[in-house]
Amino acid sequence: MTSRSPLADLVAKAEGIYRDYRLSAVREWKTRTGGLAIGYLPIYVPCELLHAQGVLPVGLMGARDDLEIIKGDAYYQSYICHIPRSTIELGLNGSLDGLDGVLFPAICDVIRNLSGMWQMLFPGKLVRYLDVPQNFDAEIGGRFYRQQLEELSSALTSIGARPLNNEALARSIGVYNTLRRAVRDLYTLRRQAPWTVPTSELYLILRASLVIPVEDAIAMLTVYSALAEAADDRRPLDQARVLLTGSFCEQPPIGLIRTLERSGCYIVDDDFVQIHRFIESDVETNGDPLDNLVRAFLTDAIASPTRYIDTNAKGAHLVRRIRASGAEGVVFCAPSFCDPALLDQPMMTAAVDRERIPWTAFKYSENTGQFQVIREQAGTFADSIKLWSEP
Ligand code: SF4
Repeated sequence: MTSRSPLADLVAKAEGIYRDYRLSAVREWKTRTGGLAIGYLPIYVPCELLHAQGVLPVGLMGARDDLEIIKGDAYYQSYICHIPRSTIELGLNGSLDGLDGVLFPAICDVIRNLSGMWQMLFPGKLVRYLDVPQNFDAEIGGRFYRQQLEELSSALTSIGARPLNNEALARSIGVYNTLRRAVRDLYTLRRQAPWTVPTSELYLILRASLVIPVEDAIAMLTVYSALAEAADDRRPLDQARVLLTGSFCEQPPIGLIRTLERSGCYIVDDDFVQIHRFIESDVETNGDPLDNLVRAFLTDAIASPTRYIDTNAKGAHLVRRIRASGAEGVVFCAPSFCDPALLDQPMMTAAVDRERIPWTAFKYSENTGQFQVIREQAGTFADSIKLWSEP
């Protein structure tokens, strides 16, 4: 009998956490610590604030392709994305009972409506719609966002969390800076040697990191990075380097990511599990920590489709990412009916066309089960890059 390598063991552990939609890791943490656990929908919430108040932030990203949707479909019309249906299903079947509440960041109408449904379905739990500014002036959007954070903090205290204090928040910002750096380092390693860090593995590590304490997530990322870098059985293949964009909220099934890799693509940048990269650099730890969180959101957040920023700036940001990652092509890979992703796509493709960068596009749902068509499309795209792109 051959034993698995420590690297394979770690990836298997991450996949186990990713597939466990009953959130056993969260339930265990609550039993051990007696603390509160608060879920949050994509893309970004200030986890530092929750951490500083002793609360476990738990990232929710739907139910993947493992769960039969029985009741969730009844709550939504057919022409919207899938993630709200599976989230409702998880709520109704008791999978999320371990959570003391859920935060719904303001990213689209679907998430906003889901927050209203959650309020009606789970009246005993904390439910907050986290409004975020679309004006990035410190005096306008900044004041507004600070008030939102203060209200969120008070709401957490009202259900038993520790009151917020500046020292604890500054420490938590430091911890999350370490997490962000670990993720950035892993993305850099993948960019430099994508055969070392297959995206299908990186993705599982990132998904696991959403539901375990941040300190454990940092350790998992660091160990994975060291093991992957040291793996001497991983050799480069003649694959096309692609940037994948559009998958920032509802996530594709892991089978789709593996299909893209098997079809001849190295994914060298992506939008998966974006919360750890939503703020692009370290958040300041000196000075008023709440102001520091606000400033980071206003001035250092990515050009997400969920932020109202100048059209050209969005295309420019994508082109910068393509250049920085050395991608030879772009795969626009968005959930079906995702308004923020699909409304941005024409601006993005125009920017990419201006730079004469090849691209292809398709849509998915988190429970997409057939990948043959995507494999043929992605494989043809990868071949065309290899055969016809200018060196
Ligand atoms: S997948 Fe798109 S439309 Fe659906 S909830 Fe997420 S951001 Fe909104």
